[in-house]
This record gives sequence, structure tokens and C-alpha cells, in this order.
Amino acid sequence: MLAIRHLSKTYPGGTRALQGIDLSVAEGEVVAIVGGSGCGKSTLLRIVAGLDQPSQGQVAIDGATVAGPHPGIGIVFQEPRLFPWLTVAQNVGFGLSGGADRARQAAEVLARVGLADKAGVWPRQLSGGQAQRVAIARALVTRPEVLLLDEPFSALDAFTRLDLQRHLLQVWASVDPRPTLVIVTHDVDEALLLADRVVVMRPDPGRIEADIAIGLPRPRDRTAPAFEALRREVMGVLDRTLPIPAPA
Ligand code: ADP
Ligand code: MG
Repeated sequence: MLAIRHLSKTYPGGTRALQGIDLSVAEGEVVAIVGGSGCGKSTLLRIVAGLDQPSQGQVAIDGATVAGPHPGIGIVFQEPRLFPWLTVAQNVGFGLSGGADRARQAAEVLARVGLADKAGVWPRQLSGGQAQRVAIARALVTRPEVLLLDEPFSALDAFTRLDLQRHLLQVWASVDPRPTLVIVTHDVDEALLLADRVVVMRPDPGRIEADIAIGLPRPRDRTAPAFEALRREVMGVLDRTLPIPAPA
């Protein structure tokens, strides 16, 4: 269980990026976080990953406070951030300790993301979608209990995005026990396709506006009336969070 308690973050300079965030995510649950730009989504993920410190509050996994980068937590960013001087397999194996087992584990996770044939190539030889799959493989190879994804598919074209969404769910379902996923996205359909819960944030200061349960069976049909009803519900909450334009 991932437990975020009374989390606040004020940056030097005074920006209140987060205030009073409380969020619990069960083991194996998929939570999507949506919200306008600047409402603290990336700040929240970085603090959960142990890459930044909160001003107040805490993050715990199974009762243990997260105080810094942690092998139980993996993170994937919008850009794949692969090391250009390492092969695909070496990138995936980077976070593992040495030994023959390292190559075997890297190969196994690459196969799981459908890139077994790319083990020996350089990152620059990959398409954007393939590179992001390698980044996901690299995050999964240490078998994290929690996988955080910060707008992982935003830079990809619509077809590649659909492919990777399906793929992420397949990979998630193939790991035993299933990792907890927290995915930040500005694509409401992506949130509804993937998540058990959609958390909507609002800015100034960054906080949670709504936490909506998505009780649809998987795989989900984006054209189903129940999906459409949830889309309308999430959009309605998002509209409420947008700043009201000043009169001209
Ligand atoms: P989001 O990911 O939802 O777009 P961020 O977490 O990136 O939001 O940013 C939340 C707020 O904090 C914004 O107002 C942003 O300008 C500010 N912010 C983000 N990172 C920093 C930083 N390192 N220093 C100061 N302010 C920051
Ligand atoms: Mg962000």
C-alpha cells in the first residue's frame, strides 16, 4: 500500500505546488492523475519517488517512510532518458547489480515489452514508442512495487499512444504480484482506459479536487455508454478546476 499523508510542498520562492494531499493506493491498483498544467502532478510524483522532499507530510510504502530514491519505486518520464552510450539491454540492466543474471533479467523484461530483438541496438536506432517501452522495461526490471509514470505517452503520436496503453496494461497484468501504477496524464481517455481510479487535481495551491472510481471491466471500450458517462463526469470536474478568464 502506497500512503501519501498531508503532503505539502512550497518551493523556495513561494510557489505552493501541493497542499494537504492525502491519497492511498492499494497494491496492484492503477490510479491516473489528471489536471491542468502547474497543479503539482510532477511535483507529487517526484516526491513519491524520493527525488524531492516535501515541505510537510510523508509518503510511505507498506508503512516504511520513503526518504530518498528507493528500489521499490520505479519512475518513467515523458522522455525515455536512455543512456545513448549503452545498448538497449545495457540500459535495461543498468539498475541491477552485476553478474550473469543481469543479462538474463534484462532479456526477460525486454521480451515482456515485445523488444527481445532490440537487445543489441543503440537507443538512437529506436522509434519514440520503442524507446519509451525500453524505459518502461528499465523501470520494471528491479521489480518495483510501485511504478510511477509522468505523462509517459504524451510525446507520441495517437496510434503509438494507443498501442503503448494496451501494452502497459498487458505488462502490468503479466507481473506477479501486479505492481501499483500511478500514471499522470492530460488525456482523459487514457486515464479512463487504464485506471481503477481517476484523481483530478487543481492548482494554486495544488490539491485533489475529486477521486472517481472507474468500475469498468477490462479491456475497455471507449465507445461504450458507461465510458462516455465517466468521460463526461471527469471533464465536468476538470472544467470546474480551470481558472475563470478575467473579463475583457
Ligand atoms: P504539473 O506537473 O502539474 O504541470 P508541476 O509539479 O511541474 O505541475 O509544478 C507545480 C507548480 O510548481 C508550478 O507552479 C511550477 O511552476 C512550480 N514548480 C515546479 N517545479 C519547481 C521548481 N523546481 N522550483 C520552483 N517552482 C517549481
Ligand atoms: Mg508535469
